[in-house]
Amino acid sequence: MKKGERADYILSELKRLYPNPAVPLDHFDTYSLLVAVLLSAQTTDKMVNQVTPDLWKLGKTPAEMAKRKPSEIREAIKRCGLSPQKSIAIQKLSEILVREYDGQVPDSLEELEKLPGVGHKTASVVMCQAFGQNAFPVDTHIHRLAQRWGLTSGASVVQTERDLKKLFPEESWNKLHLQIIYYGREHCTARGCDGTVCPICKALYPRRKTPVETRK
Ligand code: SF4
Repeated sequence: MKKGERADYILSELKRLYPNPAVPLDHFDTYSLLVAVLLSAQTTDKMVNQVTPDLWKLGKTPAEMAKRKPSEIREAIKRCGLSPQKSIAIQKLSEILVREYDGQVPDSLEELEKLPGVGHKTASVVMCQAFGQNAFPVDTHIHRLAQRWGLTSGASVVQTERDLKKLFPEESWNKLHLQIIYYGREHCTARGCDGTVCPICKALYPRRKTPVETRK
């Protein structure tokens, strides 16, 4: 199968398996989504969903959270990885949202990426899941599966995002990145496979015999 044909097959197969992928991080508005995505770095969404109820007891708005000390925030999120850095980032970005954005989350990728603790992937998730803008956030699952499916070389997550955006129609990105994540978690785990086991790779590479190595 050529790369474009593989992309078409994957798009239709993931649509069949996950027609309406839910946003995996619990949230009640754009600010809580931004903070939840920030917390999800090097932590499972499951763990983030376990700690955020305690965090929201400290405050549900940037104004309330900005009044909190990083040590208080850290106490609430300590079960998440990198909690010292994340607690400082949450307090600082809350202050900035109050001071510079009237307590609102800016609906621009550039502005979001300027906020403490907010990188390109986090900003892209907020743009597509909160503001409905087409974006293709690439996390470890997407980076791994895109390589296994021969859609990118895996040189970097930046390159993977660029390659996937070229291969898939823009209107599919917001659902597709979630569908790939769900497939990665359920079937195509980092430890679990060498690229010869399930229907997807059998369809994409019917003659594949040798295991596939992927880059981090
Ligand atoms: S065969 Fe393995 S690598 Fe390929 S899609 Fe299935 S689980 Fe993933």
